[in-house]
Amino acid sequence: MDIEDSAVSARRLDPSAQMQLQAQDPAVMAEVARLLAGRTRDIRLKGELRRLFQERSWPRTAKVIRAWMIWVALLDVLTLGLNAILLPKAIVLSMLAPACILPPAALGTAFVWRKPRATSIQGGSIIAGLFFILLSVALVGVGAGGEFYERHLTIMLFVAITAIIIFSVPLAWTVTVAALALSLYLVFQLLNPSLETGSAVAATLFFASGIVATVVARRTMTILAQKGFLLELRDRSRVAELADANARLERLARTDPLTGIANRRWMMETLNRFWSAGLDSRGCSMLMCDIDEFKKLNDRLGHAEGDRCLVKVAGIIESSVQSDRDHVARYGGEEFLIVLPGVDESEAVLLAERIRKSVEAASLPNPDSRVSPCVTLSIGVATQPPDETIVSPEQLQNQADAALYLAKQAGRNRVVLHEPS
Ligand code: GH3
Ligand code: MG
Ligand code: MG
Repeated sequence: MDIEDSAVSARRLDPSAQMQLQAQDPAVMAEVARLLAGRTRDIRLKGELRRLFQERSWPRTAKVIRAWMIWVALLDVLTLGLNAILLPKAIVLSMLAPACILPPAALGTAFVWRKPRATSIQGGSIIAGLFFILLSVALVGVGAGGEFYERHLTIMLFVAITAIIIFSVPLAWTVTVAALALSLYLVFQLLNPSLETGSAVAATLFFASGIVATVVARRTMTILAQKGFLLELRDRSRVAELADANARLERLARTDPLTGIANRRWMMETLNRFWSAGLDSRGCSMLMCDIDEFKKLNDRLGHAEGDRCLVKVAGIIESSVQSDRDHVARYGGEEFLIVLPGVDESEAVLLAERIRKSVEAASLPNPDSRVSPCVTLSIGVATQPPDETIVSPEQLQNQADAALYLAKQAGRNRVVLHEPS
């Protein structure tokens, strides 16, 4: 899967799952490390990281924007109602038309931010929505005139500042909103009949310094949020690495390095787990397998050939059992233990016989063996029937061992079933 494909499939996941995926992408993590190694103020997210950050922070950003829009609309209506009670009718009437611009603008923007949309639509809705909201607030003062004129222009700037501070949106949108608010302020102050042009410009410059400081604060907050996001990605990547290393260690700890099948330790754990979970209602069988005259094979053909023989025998055993039901482990040097849950005596003997024949049919050389010129296997079988007193896994193993001992004594290359004396 190339980078494009992984980016497309990542987009179908939720942001948290996407982060998990990205945290395992070396290219993404190299970029994260580079950004975190530099100065915080130089952090700039690009490409996939930027998209992921926006997607992850979207629900919170949208929630804040929706709540702000709804509250501003509510306050507009409440203020108008309060003014209707407190102010002369002529003034209230002059405020009515401009005040009516605000609720649809605010609620329309809140509606757009109900679900993720194209960036242009989101940016457009914020800029247009805020423009009409600010215009509405300013026009209410302009319409009422007198003391209300300047007061409402100040309220408009206050409204703009709250939006700039709490809307976690791209810097370009924030700057546009700030510029809109200051332009509206300047234009209406220039039109203010009770204010000199010089005073209008001076007041605008005074408020501009405050707004610029607010935009800078907003940018700092966004960078800190991005840094938090990068740190979270790094944490996730480290946790994933650790989990990976743990899984590898666990695999190593339960695998026999020569044959690749499970080792004795894993088998003991499996048996204990199996027994404590309650045995299968149909009982359980064990096969203890031991290669015949293996020492002779080593002595004659060398240890390396002996190793190859062990790998082949392990493979034959593994391919003879049902992988989803049975458990196979290398139990000792040339011994293999097979556990067959839910397998009764006769089925276990049949399987043991099949394994023995398969090893024989593989014709692996053991020229000095007194049994056959080829490698052979002796197998002891023991079964825990479902309706009898449950013995411990160690006892069942001892029974299989005892049967194997009998198989060796009886001439090797055979299957012997443990019979209770
Ligand atoms: P029997 O038929 O009675 O089982 O005789 P045997 O020779 O197979 O049994 P014995 O216990 O006398 O010898 C087992 C040999 O297995 C001795 C040991 O060198 C060899 N062995 C144990 N582990 C390994 C291993 O990992 N690789 C190799 N090549 N040989 C091993
Ligand atoms: Mg042995
Ligand atoms: Mg042996």
